[in-house]
Amino acid sequence: MEGTAPSIHELRWNPFLGQWVIVAGHRGRRPWRPEEREKGFRCPFCPGSPETERFGDGWDVIVLPNRFPALKPDAPEVARGGDLFRRGRALGICEVVVETPEHEGDLHTLSLEHMARVVRVFADEYRRLGSLPYVKYVAEFRNKGKEIGVSLTHPHSQIYAMPFIPPRIEAELGNFKRFFEEHGECLLCSVLREELRDGERVVYSNRHFVVVLPFFAMWPYELHVYPRRHVQSLDQLSDDEVLHLADALRVVTATYSRLFDRDLPYIMVVHQAPTDGGDYGYYHLHVEFYQPYRERDKMKYAAGIEWGFGTFTYDGVPEEKAEELRAACRRAVEGLDAVLGSCGY
Ligand code: ZN
Ligand code: ZN
Ligand code: FE
Repeated sequence: MEGTAPSIHELRWNPFLGQWVIVAGHRGRRPWRPEEREKGFRCPFCPGSPETERFGDGWDVIVLPNRFPALKPDAPEVARGGDLFRRGRALGICEVVVETPEHEGDLHTLSLEHMARVVRVFADEYRRLGSLPYVKYVAEFRNKGKEIGVSLTHPHSQIYAMPFIPPRIEAELGNFKRFFEEHGECLLCSVLREELRDGERVVYSNRHFVVVLPFFAMWPYELHVYPRRHVQSLDQLSDDEVLHLADALRVVTATYSRLFDRDLPYIMVVHQAPTDGGDYGYYHLHVEFYQPYRERDKMKYAAGIEWGFGTFTYDGVPEEKAEELRAACRRAVEGLDAVLGSCGY
């Protein structure tokens, strides 16, 4: 099988949903958790590996090309295809942000200053990749834990510089734009004001950022990190805001690890404006965290009603889960150095 048929690498249009699928035949050959399966496995993200050796010793955060990119700057040209079976070029760039030379850890095990440098790399890559003519969206995210399919444990995030705006962002942009046209102000600024007035779902806040379990959360312990200032992307943040975002992100992952007093898997995504040259002044940067457990030993699965229909059931009461998270936040903050804000409101 391997090496015989040329691998297919292209975008395919799903006309039912009106969205692209990235077909990357070569990614099927990715190793699955090689650390556990291969004798003599050497972590590619540790100092001294073939992939990191050009950085020498003494680095703290580095950006590497993804070895199994779903999108490539030299992706093959494809025939567009018919109206029904449309194809597109899988143009883009996939990178890995190795957040620390240490093989184990999480965002909250990095020092505050170190975490601020990680945020700065995210901001720099957003700007650099977003300025490429074929990049319409820079998707920055972090997956943690084998429950959600992470194949390498060394702390890292990923960046997909994409040739289209992904559907979640399209949906948010549509709603933010409509709200702005109807109310003359930003949807997130309005939601944040309301969350701060209620206070019940605020888990943590510092001078520049607020962490809430949103009123409309879909996942039991979903958390959103909102900048108080109306900005569209990470590269608009001041140095002081970068430091406070780093603080908020550390507190979130520390809170998750204290919730059930064990390492929890999570997904972190940065939602920022597209880089296709459009005017997105109505949009508002935020970071979302989803965490698949609903209780200590029970996973919440996205199954029939969620995957098949797109409707989520929230198993529990958001205000009660927020209280649990606030309690975990207080324990987490006790164990962290250099915390800039406080739990709750
Ligand atoms: Zn490593
Ligand atoms: Zn806003
Ligand atoms: Fe969002």
